[in-house]
Amino acid sequence: MSERNSGLYEKALTPLMKAASVLNIESDIVSVLSSPERALIVSIPVKMDRGKMRVFTGYRVQHNTSRGPTKGGIRYHPGVCIDEVKSLAFWMSIKNGVVGVPYGGGKGGITCNPKEMSQGELERLTRGYAAAIAKFVGPDQDIPAPDVGTNAQIMGWFADEYYKITGKHLPGVITAKPLSIGGSRGRGTATGRGAFFATLEAVKTFNMSLRGARVSIQGYGNVAQPIANYLYELGCKIVAVSDSVGGAYNPEGMNPTALAELKTKTRSVKGFPGSREISTGDPITVDCDILIPAALENQITEKNVNDVKAKLIVEEANGPTTPEADKILHEKGVKIIPDVLANAGGVTVSYFEWVQNRIGYYWSDEEVDEKLKGVMIKAFKDVYQTAQQHEIDMRTAAYVTSVKKIIEAMQALGRL
Ligand code: NAD
Repeated sequence: MSERNSGLYEKALTPLMKAASVLNIESDIVSVLSSPERALIVSIPVKMDRGKMRVFTGYRVQHNTSRGPTKGGIRYHPGVCIDEVKSLAFWMSIKNGVVGVPYGGGKGGITCNPKEMSQGELERLTRGYAAAIAKFVGPDQDIPAPDVGTNAQIMGWFADEYYKITGKHLPGVITAKPLSIGGSRGRGTATGRGAFFATLEAVKTFNMSLRGARVSIQGYGNVAQPIANYLYELGCKIVAVSDSVGGAYNPEGMNPTALAELKTKTRSVKGFPGSREISTGDPITVDCDILIPAALENQITEKNVNDVKAKLIVEEANGPTTPEADKILHEKGVKIIPDVLANAGGVTVSYFEWVQNRIGYYWSDEEVDEKLKGVMIKAFKDVYQTAQQHEIDMRTAAYVTSVKKIIEAMQALGRL
């Protein structure tokens, strides 16, 4: 196992430091909040289709358990490292506090390239990972879900392996499962739907208009495609889209469903009819009104921030903006719905799924959507009000609202 420090975790802590100064939190408490409670690194030997063994490295980080069991996705990507998983788990603690779901933050990942693996290899890898971390997860302990490179099928394999190991049918061990095995209605589109509700609230609050608004999206996967559809239905123009292969730009707008169909067929939006080819990073800087980073961390940086033209940024990805770029955007007056708020719809419907699994009774699409809308609007309003009250930016405000809840829980448990 080799470990590299990407420096991401130190950057991830920047808004915590700002929130701590707003709330006058002592430095010893900040160090407690900055330290994940548990970080696992596991080796997963997998027999590949050609008969050879290959050992993959997997991770699971549980950041803070004071508000409930930990919860957060599993990422399959070549860039996964402990530093990234620690950052993602920390962001989950903050996010869960922002929307008020009763969880701490967790996250997992495997350093691998799922695009180069067969279904059989992916299944064996997933089962090996589930077996390696089975003792540390469970409906009352730590509940994974999908993230970049994972999907409902992978959740199904994980659940099955867990049932076999424990001898118990506990569907609440993992969320975003297929509907046939206890998934929730609305989970597939939940992150995009939640970001859409937050966007509607932002547009109202900041006196903007969606009619004809030009939208640019970096990353066109699970979380990006639904929001593109919802915004398109309201009259927005999707002018730029990219994925890990390339991108497409058309100032007249592109049909999001046709873009998704092209991506399913060819694995990329590149070459969309009538569009001009752009690079994977170009959506960040094209002329647009709303920018939606929906790929990976560190995409809006000191290098490109001065070319950002959007008036509103909806962070569907986790950690897309570096602290340096964030400061510049704030000074330029660009409105940001920060990741820990914008993409919290996913964990919110995952929470609904976990609740439905525990009570064994399932809700309709309408019930899930109505509940999600309520949670997102309340979270947006709480964060906005906190920003106004302390005269701080929306990101710091989101951390302030969440950190208060985490500290209160730690004090109630006698941990502080
Ligand atoms: P995904 O794998 O479905 O999609 C990611 C997309 O980004 C793919 O289209 C990929 O090609 C593209 N991409 C990767 N590298 C890129 C690059 N350098 N430039 C442009 N595009 C690139 O993953 P997802 O589940 O949609 O997750 C995307 C982001 O949203 C991640 O930051 C993830 O942590 C975050 N998120 C996901 C969920 C969820 O429920 N899946 C919830 C909250 C936040």
